[in-house]
Amino acid sequence: MVKTGRDHLRSLRDGRAVYIDAERVSDVTEHPAFRRSVRSACGLYDHQAAPANLETMTFASPTNGRRVSRLWQLPHNQRELVERRQALQAWAEATCGMIGRSPDHVGSSLAGMYMGRKAFEKHGPKRAKALADYFTYARDNDLYLSYVIINPQADRSKAASNQPGEDLVARIVDEDAQGITIRGAKMLGTSIIFANEIMVSGFMGLQAGEEDFAFTAMVPMNAKGLKAFSRKSYEAAAVSVFDNPLSSRFDENDAIVYFEDVKIPWERVLVYRDVQMAQAQWHDTRAHVLQNYQCQIRLMVKLRFLIGVARKIAEVNGIINYPQVRETLGLLAAKAVNIEAMVIAMEAAGEKFGEYYVPNRSILSASQAIAQQLYPEVVEALRMLAGGGLIMLPSSAADFGNPEIASVIGKTQRSSVATPTERVKLFKLAWDAIGSEFGSRHLQYEIFYSGPTFVTRGHAYRFYDWDAAKGMVDGFMASYDLPGEERP
Ligand SMILES: Cc1cc2nc3c(=O)[nH]c(=O)nc-3n(C[C@H](O)[C@H](O)[C@H](O)COP(=O)(O)OP(=O)(O)OC[C@H]3O[C@@H](n4cnc5c(N)ncnc54)[C@H](O)[C@@H]3O)c2cc1C
Repeated sequence: MVKTGRDHLRSLRDGRAVYIDAERVSDVTEHPAFRRSVRSACGLYDHQAAPANLETMTFASPTNGRRVSRLWQLPHNQRELVERRQALQAWAEATCGMIGRSPDHVGSSLAGMYMGRKAFEKHGPKRAKALADYFTYARDNDLYLSYVIINPQADRSKAASNQPGEDLVARIVDEDAQGITIRGAKMLGTSIIFANEIMVSGFMGLQAGEEDFAFTAMVPMNAKGLKAFSRKSYEAAAVSVFDNPLSSRFDENDAIVYFEDVKIPWERVLVYRDVQMAQAQWHDTRAHVLQNYQCQIRLMVKLRFLIGVARKIAEVNGIINYPQVRETLGLLAAKAVNIEAMVIAMEAAGEKFGEYYVPNRSILSASQAIAQQLYPEVVEALRMLAGGGLIMLPSSAADFGNPEIASVIGKTQRSSVATPTERVKLFKLAWDAIGSEFGSRHLQYEIFYSGPTFVTRGHAYRFYDWDAAKGMVDGFMASYDLPGEERP
């Protein structure tokens, strides 16, 4: 009964309108731009369906008893939060932390919204019912969700309603007894190629008068009028799995989504023409917390992987015993442990939110702000350790098949601890992770996926306990005075 990779693969053959390289894709599961990455996404469901993993990865849906991903489980205490995290962590490990929008990211947003359904009740009983019903539907069908919640860049100094040209930012253009109709674009649909449905919403603030832009709706990827315009596929450009072990399989893709008069039934409209609710849905619920907690879990795994690569490079290049290299590796290890410790801390210092137990919001915000700075530092340190070895590589795995070239590879790709093939394999992996177009996109992703730095640092500012910090200073300053005015 549990969802498998095969089930998911089949569900993606739904007539969705995805465009790449001037063409509409007839089947994303077979197209060279997506096919391997689609299978990696499907592999997540096979992982949870494996009998040995069933208990760790799934739980019984409270409505029909079907085993579904633990991402849908709403924790009531720290133990349940940790159990849920262990499932998310296992999924991240299956992709070396390289898929940001695995099903647990937006699934977590929806779960966080559902935890805060009181905010939706204030918004209106129909919208609260739509949320509750959709949450149950998504959970019981173990849907793969992604989202588009950012307006396309055009003129960031102007409001959504005041952008140059027409029909840029997705907005409500019509409504009737069946639902709303939306028109316009959103960025940047990561993983939507292999998602079942997407959340269309807004994270950026809106002003009174911009109600047309203030909506949240759940839309199947094959909805009439929904068009996804893919960026360049790194998977298609990957020479082989040996040459590009990550981009050939974990290219989660990003796409501009254009809604060409897409009709959305009322039961899928969660926020309707309310600029305050458009913000409250993230912050008065625990949507923002749960989705970004998932990001920190994934980053924790990815850092462990990258630091493993760094250590292996140091060993293969015979530099591991230099004190300076150990110092660099030590600092890298400290950075990885920093994020890991924050994940554990946000669980241990978790908060009650109604009947639920959720990660600590202040620690989570701190972790996000630190991560944006930390990731580029990790990439730079890896580059410093690796030197020209990232480039001093055979053009492709095919070179090994040519005896003349293979003999030179054997003479030039040397190490005291690795064979020439092992050496090439490691450095190609390292380059794919941090230097290739895929690796470079990852750098951009880690810096921006949760908003520009002024947004994430704004959250860290907002959720810090300033009263405690200032109170400490006030208390200390009250313990002394001008000379001659000392208190007894
Ligand atoms: C690889 C990748 C994947 C993504 N995936 C998704 C996804 O799945 N779903 C989704 O909805 N979004 C996604 N995003 C979008 C992401 O959320 C945005 O990139 C992020 O919110 C920042 O918005 P922006 O890119 O428009 O940058 P901008 O908001 O335009 O900011 C860019 C820079 O402009 C300056 N700036 C802009 N505004 C101000 C201001 N008010 N004050 C001062 N300086 C300012 C800052 O220097 C800032 O760093 C993704 C982004 C990337 C790069």
